[in-house]
Amino acid sequence: SAAPARAGSALPLDILHEVFGYSAFRGQQAAIVEHVTEGRDALVLMPTGGGKSLCYQVPAIARHRQGRGVTVVVSPLIALMHDQVGALEEVGVHAAFLNSTLSLEDTQRIEREMMSGRLVMLYAAPERVTNLRFQAQLASLHERGLLSLFAIDEAHCVSQWGHDFREDYLQLSVLHERFPDVPRLALTATADDQTRADMIERLQLQDARVFISSFDRPNIRYTLVEKDNPRQQLLRFIRDEHPGDAGIVYCQSRRKVEETATWLSDQGVPALPYHAGLDAGVRQRHQDRFLREEGLVMVATVAFGMGIDKPDVRFVAHLDLPKNIEGYYQETGRAGRDGGEADAWLTYGLADVVNQRRMIDESPATDEFKRIQRGKLDALLALAEAHDCRRVRLLSYFGEDSAPCGNCDNCLRPPATWDGTEAARKMLSCIYRFWQHGQQRFGAGHLIDVLRGKQTDKVRQYGHESLSTYGVGADLSENQWRAVLRQLVALGHVVAEGEFNTLALTASARAVLKGDVQLTLREAADAPRRSKTTRVG
Ligand code: ADP
Ligand code: ZN
Repeated sequence: SAAPARAGSALPLDILHEVFGYSAFRGQQAAIVEHVTEGRDALVLMPTGGGKSLCYQVPAIARHRQGRGVTVVVSPLIALMHDQVGALEEVGVHAAFLNSTLSLEDTQRIEREMMSGRLVMLYAAPERVTNLRFQAQLASLHERGLLSLFAIDEAHCVSQWGHDFREDYLQLSVLHERFPDVPRLALTATADDQTRADMIERLQLQDARVFISSFDRPNIRYTLVEKDNPRQQLLRFIRDEHPGDAGIVYCQSRRKVEETATWLSDQGVPALPYHAGLDAGVRQRHQDRFLREEGLVMVATVAFGMGIDKPDVRFVAHLDLPKNIEGYYQETGRAGRDGGEADAWLTYGLADVVNQRRMIDESPATDEFKRIQRGKLDALLALAEAHDCRRVRLLSYFGEDSAPCGNCDNCLRPPATWDGTEAARKMLSCIYRFWQHGQQRFGAGHLIDVLRGKQTDKVRQYGHESLSTYGVGADLSENQWRAVLRQLVALGHVVAEGEFNTLALTASARAVLKGDVQLTLREAADAPRRSKTTRVG
């Protein structure tokens, strides 16, 4: 026997007006809400700030008012559950969360509310939802027709190809197996083709309708610059473009987070560190300050950000290369959620490329996994080295076609490019000669010295003056050669391996050496304009 219908209209638009006080649905919200309220499955891909919460909150309320009982919202983020439940209770919607921070008494009270069917929405972490005791409670609700809907937030966590993989998410397929007639809604702000396919398979959403919103964030300006003196570059960026603004600076290591935060503070930019190695109390305090105070810069590892809803983050800067485009997109997506102008700024260099490749190579993962991670990294490198619109490339990665945006570095200041085919051939053949000459590999510094014909101890020691490539590259500066090398590594023609990052050719280098491939390269940032230089765009 289902519960009697509750007071209030069960029409989605009425709920939007009366409960949330909004005048209209945004984008695809109306279609999604209608589909889910009717009890059908959906997979929703919508960028951060797009309004995913209403996509399950409105159906949950509508279905509760139809007497269908409780919606279970699965979320990995305790902070987010807390905020959402608070906001819902404030507008008179009976909601609660279950997690390990609650007392036994509170837990029991909430379970009673749930079992009675009075609760509209219950938020819980995946490990809670799939445990045996909770499953038994769901079964009892289900028998009485009071299990209305499952909403699975941050659904990309089920994909091991993604960057937020969580083991507990894999167990969520049990929801469909045990309660096949209860509709499910999975939501995420990040999904390339592979992750999308993975979510559908692992959550058994084959019959779900997929709703894809545009991933474009037109108010975010993308800028990716060559690493020169990264700290100074960052400081200049903040001082010139964002004095007094709130922002996030991502670094890869905890140590670098600490050092950068201290350094920025010393330079007069108020900054706080955040990483998983800090005491939980410190982390909480820094997060609270970042949310409440104005103009603070959070220097953080990727541990910071998921579920942080601060609307006026004016910039997101990366001092290290993210693992892939999904990560980059999600992290930069934390800027400008209020719709105001915001910057996504990244600085990267050869060492970043080499590091990321090495982390993949040295991880204990399977070959298949590594292959996919390498492919994802390559896509990010192609974005970093692109001379055309960054947004077109980003969106096309998510399967969207678009026109040049006019609001990225390449659109605003088309980069100079040049025909680097000849230079690339010189460099590749020099690496080849090293091997031919002494069965040895060398790193970037020595390679560039030989190309430029420098007299160093190392050159003499190995007899490299005798190589046919010695001094053939005197026309380019060291910096220009570094840019060539970085692009060759990014393009996958050269790999840097081992403890000393010694360089080796890949199979694809052969076509370049033979002159079968023409390479258009970005001009190094400080390069003098040479005659070959052309401007594109
Ligand atoms: P997401 O979870 O996709 O990042 P949220 O659900 O947190 O996004 O929504 C982002 C912001 O947009 C919130 O402040 C929310 O209240 C607001 N919002 C969402 N939908 C609407 C709407 N139809 N009308 C007005 N504001 C909305
Ligand atoms: Zn552009």
